[in-house]
Amino acid sequence: MKTEPEPGGSSVKNIWSLNFQDWFWQVRHRITTLEQLEKIVNLTVEEKRAVAFSGKMFKMAITPYFASLMSKDDSNCPIRKQCIPSLQEFKTNLNELSDPCGEEETSPVAGLVHRYPDRVLLLITDACAMYCRHCTRRRIVGSSETRMSMANFHLAVKYIKEHKEIRDVLISGGDPLLLSDEKLDYYLKTLRSIENIEIIRIGTRVPVVLPQRITEKLCLTLKKYHPLFMSIHFNHPNEITEETRKACDMLSDSGIPLGSQSVLLKGINDKPQTMTQLMQELLKMRVRPYYIYQCDLAKGTSHFRTTVATGIKIIEGLRGHTTGYAVPTYVIDAPSGGGKVPVGPEYVISKSKSGVIIRNYERKLFVYPENGKPFTAEEVEKASKQYSLTKKQ
Ligand SMILES: *Cc1c(COP(=O)(O)O)cnc(C)c1O
Ligand code: SF4
Repeated sequence: MKTEPEPGGSSVKNIWSLNFQDWFWQVRHRITTLEQLEKIVNLTVEEKRAVAFSGKMFKMAITPYFASLMSKDDSNCPIRKQCIPSLQEFKTNLNELSDPCGEEETSPVAGLVHRYPDRVLLLITDACAMYCRHCTRRRIVGSSETRMSMANFHLAVKYIKEHKEIRDVLISGGDPLLLSDEKLDYYLKTLRSIENIEIIRIGTRVPVVLPQRITEKLCLTLKKYHPLFMSIHFNHPNEITEETRKACDMLSDSGIPLGSQSVLLKGINDKPQTMTQLMQELLKMRVRPYYIYQCDLAKGTSHFRTTVATGIKIIEGLRGHTTGYAVPTYVIDAPSGGGKVPVGPEYVISKSKSGVIIRNYERKLFVYPENGKPFTAEEVEKASKQYSLTKKQ
């Protein structure tokens, strides 16, 4: 038997198959050094340099499972680009911030973000199974790989109890599903016992980067605390495998409504065709597309960022052309704590006291009269002229 894994793709899986489906094994054998990574893929000179220096800035860690999805030779592989550091990360542009969504400004207790009136975000751990190079919380994530202290957790619980208007708690991090079943059970039980909490949500990337973590026991733990929802971070159709499908099936069968969140990433999922395929594949496994995020202004992520127009074009390509359930909301998480702002194609062409003139997904115009009288011919004419001008841009 070979002791060294052979480089490349699915062979990683074969050689390590004995323990491959064990999530503890996956976490213990994460790829964190240049030496380990070099055994699996053929790195470019640039990649090698970036990997060697990345530790100082933002940790590299890749589960053997996720590594098995990487291309051995193509440095443009969408899986590879999400987990192998790039020299571009060492560049910071003037608009970039360490806390791009202003979470610290709206944090009453360490690890708790209260930005919206009725819901809070609880950052329960800073550890993830795999570190996404585009991570918006790269300022904190992966630095110590520790849980929120019990003292802070109880301060957060106290705050939620004292703020009766909070009815929804979103547990995120880092990745909450990296915690043990026992720890999760404790956190969920405590949050569920708060009278004003109606729903609990978990934000995770585990079904994508460590699907082995979704065990029977985990599902039994989670289903005790319904209504519990889950948002899963998916970015590319290549992330959908037999293992991911099984993990999502188990979660859905436990009564957990699944939603997806994707980050719009240059060269990875910025083509309408790629995103449409991803959204349709997600629906096939009962994951309802929820958000597409404009890539935040986190330091060292400019090479991932597209224009907002790119995102709008993607939504344009979805709405009307495919199942409505396949259309997520495209949002910009406004810098300095403004929250998520939806952006999308403009469908209202003009508004007047006669009503609205709208356009459909085929760019055909329709009038919707609102005051009991029909639109005048001039109004329609003016709107369609205006519209044909904007279409040309
Ligand atoms: C995203 C987010 C939420 C949840 O927002 P929804 O639109 O309800 O999904 C809550 N708090 C913070 C700080 C967030 O960033
Ligand atoms: S899973 Fe989420 S928190 Fe963790 S590195 Fe990826 S984007 Fe960041």
